[in-house]
Amino acid sequence: MIGLMMQQPLLVASLLTHAARHHADQEIVSRRVEGDIHRYRFVDLGVRSRRMANALAALGIQPGDRVATLAWNGYRHLELNFAVSGSGAVLHTINPRLHLDHIAYIVEHADDRAIFFDLTFLPIIEALQARLTTPRLFVAMCDASHMPAGNDSLLCYESLIDSHSSDFEWPLMDENTASSLCYTSGTTGNPKGVLYSHRSTVLHSYAGALPDTFNCSARDAILPVVPMFHVNAWGLPFIACMVGAKLVLPGPALDGKSLYELIEAEQVTMSAGVPTIWQGLLSHVSGQSRAFSSMKRTVIGGAPCPTAMAAQFQKVHEVDVLHAWGMTELSPLGTVCNLKPHQLALPEDARYAVQAKQGRAVFGIDMKIVDPNGKSLSWDGEAVGDLLVRGPWVASAYFGDASSQPLRDGWFPTGDMAKIDRDGFMQITDRSKDVIKSGGEWISSIDIENIACLHPGVASATCIGVRHPKWDERPLLLITRTSGSTLEKDELLAFLDGKLARWWKPDDVLFLDSFPLGATGKVLKAKLREQYGDHYGSSGAPKQA
Ligand code: ADP
Repeated sequence: MIGLMMQQPLLVASLLTHAARHHADQEIVSRRVEGDIHRYRFVDLGVRSRRMANALAALGIQPGDRVATLAWNGYRHLELNFAVSGSGAVLHTINPRLHLDHIAYIVEHADDRAIFFDLTFLPIIEALQARLTTPRLFVAMCDASHMPAGNDSLLCYESLIDSHSSDFEWPLMDENTASSLCYTSGTTGNPKGVLYSHRSTVLHSYAGALPDTFNCSARDAILPVVPMFHVNAWGLPFIACMVGAKLVLPGPALDGKSLYELIEAEQVTMSAGVPTIWQGLLSHVSGQSRAFSSMKRTVIGGAPCPTAMAAQFQKVHEVDVLHAWGMTELSPLGTVCNLKPHQLALPEDARYAVQAKQGRAVFGIDMKIVDPNGKSLSWDGEAVGDLLVRGPWVASAYFGDASSQPLRDGWFPTGDMAKIDRDGFMQITDRSKDVIKSGGEWISSIDIENIACLHPGVASATCIGVRHPKWDERPLLLITRTSGSTLEKDELLAFLDGKLARWWKPDDVLFLDSFPLGATGKVLKAKLREQYGDHYGSSGAPKQA
């Protein structure tokens, strides 16, 4: 028997309609590329998104067409989320930090009809214009007075808005219609396109707002530091519309000082970003305690959150840390580390040990760990296996790549190695390609990094497996020091004694000024392996510095 409830499709535009109607006066504050702070309300977002939807139709954008952005987090980018997806086209958010070859590749691969860009990215646009063979529309996201001189091929965003009416009805469509497209960062091979649907986006927003996920409400002021070009800012702009939270968008200014000023000026209550961003913010407020007058919590994900970072936020600044795991193919939410009641009473060290885990599955995500034969492993907190997931916001295939069949028996292999404890807390031990294989056993590079970061002289730590004549691979620890630190190898190795299994102890430690970072701010371990792969040579003895 079929239920008798309405068939109302889950559509991205309904998030905007709801926000504009029920939270009309709630603010959206943006730091603009032009340098100033811009503010308006959800009702204004609604009006301008509808104007832009009319402009897109006048430009000939059809349902299903891809419309790309090269843009920071700001109100115009937000408008495009609704104008493009809401009218049935597909918003393709391009990561401007990718190599130009990769950007050109994905523009061609996605066959973007139009590219909207912030002025910061004009050099990328001009380089693309010189390379791309098919004609495309290029729209500068500024007003007429800021239009770049000497390039007649560009359209002006504000002129498009001004010349179109806000009279527009968001079309009803199948909720499985594609809404946006995001390419993985291509740390291995060419980037792959993940094509989200209206349904997956709305369901992901419901799940993201839940108390044990990000706990968002109309009383929040949310600052997504994570860019919209990095998996739709982890869904936060949509979540803010769903719950009516104030949105604070940081534009291009992602340094510690600018973020801190924005957080305080706009009384931000929650934020989200990768660890490298928080390192900048924490060093800006170092020496202070309780530096944040309004911030209650921050989501840290995309890479492991070092325990030392969680402790600094929580103990020094009384800001809760929500350690989260996800990936482009998961829209991106998979797990969030919110403690269960019995864990609240644990001694401090044990609590931090739980928080070092990536957390429990958000409702909607089903996960399991398997051995190399695909056999499920037990959730005992010990067994390590390949992490597989499934759910309504998990990719089932890649865009424009009919030959790739990523699923294994209906499950998506994440490429991460993990263990899961009895409480269902998942902990990533490594990306499968980063795991260190020593004497037939596995060493978790993440565990070693986490412990090294507890030393006050360590700013950041990266551990890689390096070829070894006897053990196949042995760990090499690479460190950047905190400013003023004179930490040396012997002191750090002595510090690790007793905190790691003896055979996990790195055979050598090197001190670097910085690590090579990829387009989403993660350390490029593959590049470090290339550079230091022979460090233990044919004898197994570390090369002398
Ligand atoms: P890529 O880095 O290839 O672009 P994503 O940006 O989608 O891909 O990142 C997904 C990967 O990032 C995950 O598969 C996992 O390896 C890593 N990751 C994400 N969050 C965490 C976390 N909290 N701890 C450890 N690793 C994480």
